[in-house]
Parts: sequence; C-alpha cells; structure tokens
Amino acid sequence: MSNSDLTPEELFLLSKFQKYKEPQEFQTEFWQSIIQKPVDRLIEDFYNKGLLEKADLKRALDYKCKMVDLKKMLKQKNLNHTGKKEKLIATLLNCANDELLEEYSKVKLYKCSNVGAILVKEFVDTEDKKREENERIVINALKERDFVKAIREVVKFEASQIIPRGMGIDWKNYNLEQIDVEILTNIFKSKPKILSDVDVDKLEVLRIGASMMHLYGAAVADKWFPTNLETKSRFDNNTAARMLLFHAEFLREKNDINNSIKSGIATIKQIAIIASDDSCEECRAMANKKYTLNNIPELPYEKCTCDLGCRCCMSPVFD
Ligand SMILES: [Zn+2]
Repeated sequence: MSNSDLTPEELFLLSKFQKYKEPQEFQTEFWQSIIQKPVDRLIEDFYNKGLLEKADLKRALDYKCKMVDLKKMLKQKNLNHTGKKEKLIATLLNCANDELLEEYSKVKLYKCSNVGAILVKEFVDTEDKKREENERIVINALKERDFVKAIREVVKFEASQIIPRGMGIDWKNYNLEQIDVEILTNIFKSKPKILSDVDVDKLEVLRIGASMMHLYGAAVADKWFPTNLETKSRFDNNTAARMLLFHAEFLREKNDINNSIKSGIATIKQIAIIASDDSCEECRAMANKKYTLNNIPELPYEKCTCDLGCRCCMSPVFD
C-alpha cells in the first residue's frame, strides 16, 4: 500500500495514531467535516489494511482503568491490591482468566503499525517540505520587497491546508491584503527608536523575521533567523522582531485614525495609551496621560525597560 491510496485528509487522521488512541475519540463533527465519510468505518479500514494495530490486554487495562478501578477488580477477586499501577495490572493478568477482563480484551485501542507509521512519516515529511518551500519563496519575495507576492503565497498555502490557520479567516476569499501590505511596508521602511542600537544588516534580518511572524501568525521567529544572530539590541531576537512588528502596526493604526479624522468619519480629539498591569514604570507613567495624534509617543515606547518589550497599545477616545 502506498501513500497515494489515501487522501491527505485520511493520512492526516492516520497521523493521529502515532500513540494509542480509541476510534471513538474521533467521532466528532470536526473530524466528520474533514474526512467527509464515516470516521469509525475508515479507522476500521485502516486496521483491516494493517495500518493500525490493536493494543494488547495489558495496555488496554492501563489506558482504560484508573487505580480505583483496578483496586476494585482486585478486591472483588480477593487479590492483593497494593502497589503501583503496573503491579496491579500484572496481578490481574496473572490471576484472571475470566469474564472480569473480557470487556477490556474487546477494547479498541489502536496505534500505527510499522507500515502505517511509514505512511505517516512520508506524509508528515511531505507536508514539512511543502511548508519549508513556501517559507523559502516568501522570504525571497520579502527580500525583493515584493509584498503582494509574499502575502499571496502565504494565502495560497493556508488555503490548501487541511486545517487552515486562524479563526474566521477566509483564506479562499482573502480580503486583508491591503492591511498586510501596509504592515509589511511599515516593517521595512521604519525603525522604531527602541531598536536604535541595531545595525542596518541586523535590522534587515529582524525585519524578515517580523514579517514572517505577521504573515504566519507566529509568536517567535527563531527558525527564520540565522544561528548566532546577535544584534546590539537589549532585547532577545524574538522580542526585537516583535517590537518591529508592533511598531509597524502602531503606524498603521495611527494612519487609520488620521484618515478617519480627515474624512470626517469620526471625531477623535484624544488618544489614550494603555499599559499592561506588569508594564515597567516608564511605560506606566507614559500611559497615564491622554494624547493627540500630534504628540502621541512612539510605540513601542523607546524608554521601556520591560524584558518582554513594550506592550502598550493606543485606543482612540471618541467624542
Ligand atoms: Zn515598558
């Protein structure tokens, strides 16, 4: 049996059996919507084709029984019920050749067989390669400052995923391209004061990382940084990249507010800055005042001393 006999969705389900699982765990609407056919029958099919193997009685007992259950069964048989779980199970298995264990011998508890595991590994490796290839194309597009291409490559990739990322993002009808372009443009054109120590060449690397964080919704960018990347920033590389992204979002928001004011959509006279509860003193002192678009401090706040970097955000005060 080769990979091509199973659909990517089916291989994805099979990949969930790298550890012992009960088929009933997959009797959900979620899996039904992915597989598009009866999930329990498909899992039985995997088993019949030798892609899954069934757990033995010992493992079934371990999986299904808590300590109290085991002790109860042992007491029922007047057997020694002290010791660790492993010992209790061993005692049961040694002394029980009866109906007591029958229900557990019927338990369907499956894990990939060697053949199944090979298919899963091929599938996972292929998926990893696709992702790496996609990221490589996107990084190149970013280096060429072709932001539209970078965004469209990510969108195309996400739309092809079995489980697309992001709640409520319609990757097949993506409508956030303009916002993304603005954020990426800001990342590459501006340098926040909080990163004033960073050299130009290091900044380029951080900018790529910040863009990748934004495009892939990632919390860290390590995998896109060269090993041994050392900037002169007081922040670690992930935090520095996050500060770049944060600044780019700040500029976009500020621009949005400015446009709303100019077009008369909203009357905004003041802007509040909100610090986190655990923000540093500098941030909290700065956030305690009301500002206008003309005198609002740059975010992230350059004087911030937080290890995690500045997390202050602005909020327009509507009239
Ligand atoms: Zn701070």
